[in-house]
Amino acid sequence: MSRQFPDTFSLPLPDDFHLHLRQDEALLRYVPDAAASFGRVIVMPNTTPPIRDEHSLSRYREQIMTAAGDAPWFVPLMTFKIAESHTADAVRRLAESGATAGKLYPQGATTNAEDGVSDIRAAWPVFAAMEAQDLVLCIHGEDPSSFVLDREDAFLPIVDQIASDFPRLRIVLEHITTARAVDLVLRLPDNVAATITVHHLLLTLDAIIGGFLNPHVFCKPVMKRPEDREALARAACSDSPKFFFGSDSAPHPIGAKESSCGCAGVYTAPVAMPLLIDFFERHGTMESLRAFCCERGRRFYRVPPSDYEVTYTREAWTVPATYGDVVPLNAGRAVSWTASRPTIISGG
Ligand SMILES: [Zn+2]
Repeated sequence: MSRQFPDTFSLPLPDDFHLHLRQDEALLRYVPDAAASFGRVIVMPNTTPPIRDEHSLSRYREQIMTAAGDAPWFVPLMTFKIAESHTADAVRRLAESGATAGKLYPQGATTNAEDGVSDIRAAWPVFAAMEAQDLVLCIHGEDPSSFVLDREDAFLPIVDQIASDFPRLRIVLEHITTARAVDLVLRLPDNVAATITVHHLLLTLDAIIGGFLNPHVFCKPVMKRPEDREALARAACSDSPKFFFGSDSAPHPIGAKESSCGCAGVYTAPVAMPLLIDFFERHGTMESLRAFCCERGRRFYRVPPSDYEVTYTREAWTVPATYGDVVPLNAGRAVSWTASRPTIISGG
């Protein structure tokens, strides 16, 4: 195996531009895992009930900050779940209470999306209000009425249309999984970007159903073909500022995964950085690792450079079988890198 990276190196503290932090006891259990690895995080709003207004948004932020404890580098960037019924005034109040983005879930597309948007066209006025408030539009880009492997590609014309109708709206196509999504994001103007997860960079549909069924890596959008994974890898390792890290880390209890009605989502927060370092050492460069995890996303979101850095050391450890009652990606397997606690960049 090639070892192009030094055995010890430092990076600015990485950010995670797509994260699920749950509620109540799960929130208390899983926020510290995320805060151990990441600085600024885009917090998804698909709680029950969802984050829809400035009150629930502020309350959720408070709960997250309490759960994070002694992690002064950890900054939740809040989102709200878009409804057709959001007025321009409601969007303005969300922006004033510190929302960074709104998330568009097509109805039925994924976990807790039964109350998503059924008629995307009816949300056009919400997008206009978000553009006026300079909020970012995060899109779960799947058409739930299509065949499962075609859902993302079937949704791409809608992304194209939103981007052309709202040229000043910053749009993030979340957790992209296909070569065609990569192509569209590259073709659209600079206001359109995409997040890529670590599991979609590493795995294909084979990981879920190629051998024995593995519900712990089942997610939406589902992983696709090898050529799609390769397109994602090329995008992540490219010079394009449009592709950056969003883990979509989503803890589901074992019982909700090993079930006749298993939930979609992969828990990656504790292993994402070791796996990404390993991936970029094999397929990219130190510069592309840094750009993907620490630079491009924060620039797109207009977040300042981190005041913190982390030192990574080539030192193998075995991923625990569970975190709480959640099975993480690579459970029971070795990963090659450990991370220090984040420290303030001297002179920063
Ligand atoms: Zn998600």
